[in-house]
Amino acid sequence: MEVSRRCLGCQESDSTEKLLRCVAQDNRVVVDEKGRLPGRGAWVHRNLECLSQSLRRRAWSRAFRKGPSLDCSELENLSRSPDLAKTRLNG
Ligand SMILES: [Zn+2]
Repeated sequence: MEVSRRCLGCQESDSTEKLLRCVAQDNRVVVDEKGRLPGRGAWVHRNLECLSQSLRRRAWSRAFRKGPSLDCSELENLSRSPDLAKTRLNG
């Protein structure tokens, strides 16, 4: 059975295969490319639109129940990276 999660960008639920899992470690959002890191996960579509939308809305702070000081720099770097479309779409 397919597992679906809600994207923090567009708020649509989708298969986890199409989403990028991230977890909060200390006060920092870490991209969990392999889906193996422990802790509460939050999800976003693997595209620039959803990623930048989630950052603009500070959706990560809410998803992880952190304050506005949450460090999203890894996601911000990813959103600026031309490699985003090439990140391993099939995990
Ligand atoms: Zn999305």
